[in-house]
Amino acid sequence: MRKIELLAPAGDLERLKIAVMYGADAVFIGGKRFSLRSRASNFEIADIKAGVDFANKYGSEIHVTINMLPHDGDIVGLEEYILDLEAVGVKAVICASLFIAQKVLALNTSMEVHLSTQQSTLNHLAVQFYADLGIKRVVLGRELSIGQIENLMDKVDIDIEAFIHGGMCSNYSGRCTLSNFMTLRDANRGGCAQSCRWSYEVFDKDQVISDPEVLYSQSSKDLMSAAYIKRLIAANVASLKIEGRMKSLYYIATVVRGYRHLIDEIYAKGEISEAALNYHISEITRAENRPVASGFYENEPGVDEHIYRVHAERVTHDFLGRVLERDGNKILIEVRNKFEKGDILEFFGPSQKVEKLEFDYALAADSNEEITICNQPMSKVWIETDLAIAEDFFIRKGD
Ligand code: SF4
Repeated sequence: MRKIELLAPAGDLERLKIAVMYGADAVFIGGKRFSLRSRASNFEIADIKAGVDFANKYGSEIHVTINMLPHDGDIVGLEEYILDLEAVGVKAVICASLFIAQKVLALNTSMEVHLSTQQSTLNHLAVQFYADLGIKRVVLGRELSIGQIENLMDKVDIDIEAFIHGGMCSNYSGRCTLSNFMTLRDANRGGCAQSCRWSYEVFDKDQVISDPEVLYSQSSKDLMSAAYIKRLIAANVASLKIEGRMKSLYYIATVVRGYRHLIDEIYAKGEISEAALNYHISEITRAENRPVASGFYENEPGVDEHIYRVHAERVTHDFLGRVLERDGNKILIEVRNKFEKGDILEFFGPSQKVEKLEFDYALAADSNEEITICNQPMSKVWIETDLAIAEDFFIRKGD
């Protein structure tokens, strides 16, 4: 049986490299055109090529989303774009529109065609229908329980990709026009303003019935499905997808690393103990600033899977910095959140080991001045240490 793929998101080349280095078997990105995140994308074709070259060195692959639902004015240059992606070595394209999927297939490229979650594929007959069209992989809708996925897997013989972590829509993914209606920003053309997460008063006819001090949102908690990974592997799902192309470097490193070690432990031991699972969950959720839940995996989401009251997000200052380089027994750190003398700093890289250090002092990189409080975000400081800490390690708060 082939090993399950861990598929990570990246919003730019820097995040793509971190995702690969921290254990992603494949990374999905959106280009500047035809993607739901096209407005925020930094990926010109040259950047996609650089990403493919970097990923391939680590045995990893790049998937590119062509997942907008295009209007007439959006499709100019589509064919050239598809051929450009093939030319730079992209492994797969993720399409939401069947017209675009068929276009890629008709061009007979070397790229796999994956069907986006926006098609809300929730049953085996739909999967088979898409397989018959020549689609290589279907990304399931998020609205399936683990039991429903297992049943579906018994009946299909093409690659299936399942979401395991990240943001959820409170509507069926891709079938929401809340943002279009409230902001004229089209969620299906990359413009979702996340209107479901805003604060709302509740009305009964024209009477406000909500407490003015307690506004409501329609937001879902984020998905965290570590407890279901063993069953997804056993069901022979091909790929496990982490959502979040807009997420930070620290988030990508933390979540990818956490699932990487969880998956590897399940393969190595054939099982996962409760204590080990809890350890991996605590590592994965270190980067979260939003409440998490099991989405649809257990049951239909209920009150506990939603965030009805706003401001449930907690601001975390867990991410303290990133190691930019190592020079002998000194490391150069880019500061992100405040730390000071006496604080315990935890350094982690792709491996499971975490190095701990009680911070004493640093030298400011621009003045060489000795400082015991680092509180300037993005400032650079040198710290002396003999611990096994390397470039691209991240620093978080220790206990
Ligand atoms: S507004 Fe909310 S539910 Fe609608 S597409 Fe955006 S994130 Fe999803």
